[in-house]
Amino acid sequence: MTRKSHVLVVAGSDSSGGAGIVRDIETLAAFGVKASVAVTAVTVQTHHGVQHVDAIPPERVAQQMRAALTANDVDAIKIGMLATAATITAVASVLTDHPDIPVVLDPVLASSSGGILLAPNATASLHRLFLQCALITPNLPELSLLTGSMNEEPPEAAIAQARELVTAGAQAVLVKGGHGDGLESVDMLVQAGCAIQGFAAPRLAVSMRGTGCMLASAIAARLACGGDLATAVGDAKAFVHNQLSERND
Ligand code: PLP
Repeated sequence: MTRKSHVLVVAGSDSSGGAGIVRDIETLAAFGVKASVAVTAVTVQTHHGVQHVDAIPPERVAQQMRAALTANDVDAIKIGMLATAATITAVASVLTDHPDIPVVLDPVLASSSGGILLAPNATASLHRLFLQCALITPNLPELSLLTGSMNEEPPEAAIAQARELVTAGAQAVLVKGGHGDGLESVDMLVQAGCAIQGFAAPRLAVSMRGTGCMLASAIAARLACGGDLATAVGDAKAFVHNQLSERND
């Protein structure tokens, strides 16, 4: 029997099931990929708001990661909500021991309902973690916040912001276009020394929570199966579009 590919999910739980670990594992299962998990935070959420966040002690997050990495042949790591600067540091130290495993990082800052999911003082630590990732997947508001500009910007400005992160050492940035406007939602893959690659899908008049978790997990699933980055992003974008289409009735 052939071995199933395996992704370690490092993320927070969402009691509503709309985002976080539930979405990640649903997505990995859809790609036929096995999952292990390191829980970073337990959140109390409905689809309308975040009521409470308990961050898991950072050393316990690191221990979960090490146990998952010992128990399984992990092919890729997907990181979502990290909650605190100390957790980022703990996760970074584990990643240092596994430099060959590709890491996809969704830089979760807040929920779409407005709840804070990363402590505001953790941004500098997050920037350092970017250097250990094969890909980071900010949406337009996250990209603006991470590069110090508070406004949502037109595509050229978003590309400049992504290049800023690449110049600072990020290997690849996928700028998600879901928060933009226009008939298509276009995600842009920005990498050092490469032409920008665009991934477009028709913009649908539906909203769904957890699409960022879904996209990053789908990319990690494809990378775990040995795909190259651009193919993984294209397949993941198509997957999310299909999930949204099924709601479009
Ligand atoms: N809760 C958790 C635990 C998450 O990881 C995320 C996003 O990654 C969210 C909530 C935010 O989801 P949304 O913005 O789709 O509400």
